[in-house]
Amino acid sequence: MARLKQHTKSEGTADDAYSLNHRLTEIYRLLLARCGPQHWWPADTPFEVIVGAILTQSAAWGNVEKAISNLKQARVMTPASLRKLPLDKLAKLVYPSGYYNAKALKLKSFVEHLEEAHRDSLEKLFSLDILRLRSELLDIHGIGPETADSIILYAARKPIFVIDAYTRRILSRLGLSPSGDDYPAFQALFMDNLPADEKLFNEYHALLVRHGKEVCKKAPLCEKCCLRHLCFYAVTKNKSD
Ligand code: SF4
Repeated sequence: MARLKQHTKSEGTADDAYSLNHRLTEIYRLLLARCGPQHWWPADTPFEVIVGAILTQSAAWGNVEKAISNLKQARVMTPASLRKLPLDKLAKLVYPSGYYNAKALKLKSFVEHLEEAHRDSLEKLFSLDILRLRSELLDIHGIGPETADSIILYAARKPIFVIDAYTRRILSRLGLSPSGDDYPAFQALFMDNLPADEKLFNEYHALLVRHGKEVCKKAPLCEKCCLRHLCFYAVTKNKSD
């Protein structure tokens, strides 16, 4: 696919590209060896992935699971049922995920768009190429880059790299921040330097989230980290201690 944005700090020469590919591949290899496959996204259907991707905005996953369980118990985990459900009832069901009025509205916007543009068919929506699919998702109320990319990767199963706060924190500490230091620049770092492989992007992002939650936390547990010998933060911290 066409690159979404191409500027990274180390971009320029074939050696730089080799080095970034080598480093990103090594980080992936070490995380996979340490944590094993993550089996993402935890959902029964692609539609449930989309609902989860919207509900997880600014929310802990445990709370999203409670909201999803409410939707399943109420038997409304389909686009048509969510459309029929009054907004206030939907808001009550997704209450555990926080910002429940706003999130109910976002879910409604998605299912209304799906009916209007694709006759309620996720297959039709997902038959778009990645750039058109992304652009269409970004036009729906409440869907930003991270949510759109989560839907493309984990529901449509197309190769795009999802960037979140964990990924940014880990990459920055490792000394791999791109010069733009924004969402497109982080995304280009992965997509310009790794093969466009949906399974690789799926597993890599899931591993980064796990590593960010358990090891490279706000206060990082560097002594337990399988990446410490590659890490700019750990090396400079050791020198200053
Ligand atoms: S060594 Fe520390 S700062 Fe570096 S990736 Fe590991 S936990 Fe994060």
